[in-house]
Amino acid sequence: MNKTDVLIIGAGPTGLFCAHQLGIIGLSCEIVDNLDKAGGQCIELYPDKPIYDIPAVPECTGEELTNNLLKQIKPFNIKFHLNERVEELKKNKNRWHVKTSAGIEFDVAAIVIAGGVGSFEPRKFPVKECEKFEGNSLFYSIKDKSIFKDKTISIFGGGDSALDWAIELSNNSKVNLIHRRDGFSGVEASVQKVKELNEQGKLNLYTKFQMDSVLGDKNIEKVKIKHEKGEIKEIKSDYVLGFFGLIMQLGPILDWGLNIDKKTVQVNTENFETNINGIFAIGDICSYPGKLKLILSGFHEGALAARGCFKYAKPDEKLRFEFTTTSKAAQERLGIKK
Ligand SMILES: Cc1cc2nc3c(=O)[nH]c(=O)nc-3n(C[C@H](O)[C@H](O)[C@H](O)COP(=O)(O)OP(=O)(O)OC[C@H]3O[C@@H](n4cnc5c(N)ncnc54)[C@H](O)[C@@H]3O)c2cc1C
Repeated sequence: MNKTDVLIIGAGPTGLFCAHQLGIIGLSCEIVDNLDKAGGQCIELYPDKPIYDIPAVPECTGEELTNNLLKQIKPFNIKFHLNERVEELKKNKNRWHVKTSAGIEFDVAAIVIAGGVGSFEPRKFPVKECEKFEGNSLFYSIKDKSIFKDKTISIFGGGDSALDWAIELSNNSKVNLIHRRDGFSGVEASVQKVKELNEQGKLNLYTKFQMDSVLGDKNIEKVKIKHEKGEIKEIKSDYVLGFFGLIMQLGPILDWGLNIDKKTVQVNTENFETNINGIFAIGDICSYPGKLKLILSGFHEGALAARGCFKYAKPDEKLRFEFTTTSKAAQERLGIKK
């Protein structure tokens, strides 16, 4: 059981900055995110795109913003639980018990939901028997590329992830790239590279084909792919990878008894607490009159929610307002030595 003051659900920009605000007022927190990395939409949807409306930062990419937020919270040594979706919530006297999809449990005084537009889940193959191989020879994301060395891999999809991985894995593996259309949605340079590799015989490209079925006992041995005109091909495969983009789902958070309005959680604007005491919601997931779905709004909401958590985490103490420029306590917590 992980015991901490506050559990933050979501490692997007809002959740990361809220962790900073908790840290400087002396509260501990841990962060859970369904993705394999921190950064939320900034890192998953637009890592290379420039953002122009972060106060005092004229221009930075989604990735740079994430890296800076991570740098800012480094002094607090915050524990991240990635690839975990928060599922269950139970009240236990005046604390909360939370459980993730992998069974990790938390005992916390308060919860900050910074879940954005929901947890990002991969869009999956519609073929039923794929489920059986998921996690052993069929994947929707790659955690350890070394397992593919010298193997035959069938990659499905036509976007950047499918193209990038097809190019990268073709260095050490036999790659089949299968896409249901002739055109690709990934960047032109990657499309050209894939076509070159195909012409050089370093990769097999099958367009206008889709998955028909997967064959194998414990692990995948072959995939059958079907052309739009009906032709079926059987190709040997040790692994199958599907990159069809992400869907966003609020999931079990919807069942926690929170006031939900159009897939957002209603909060007050004093400290962004929900209708349930001790549960706060900030960033894109919260709604209130005048809400702007911008990163800067999420930062403000996180600062106030962090202070709202204080009374649950330290009910016998009073929180004093202080500036970081002059607060010795905040500077100590940030590891600043003068
Ligand atoms: C293309 C694009 C461009 C944008 N440009 C700008 C811009 O220029 N300026 C600006 O201010 N904003 C911009 N935005 C909006 C901005 O990215 C969002 O407002 C911001 O990301 C919201 O941050 P967040 O932390 O609330 O949520 P998110 O960034 O969505 O992060 C939420 C995180 O919570 C996780 N999560 C959700 N549910 C669970 C669960 N149950 N368990 C575990 N984890 C969970 C998700 O996996 C995700 O990582 C842009 C958005 C897009 C898509």
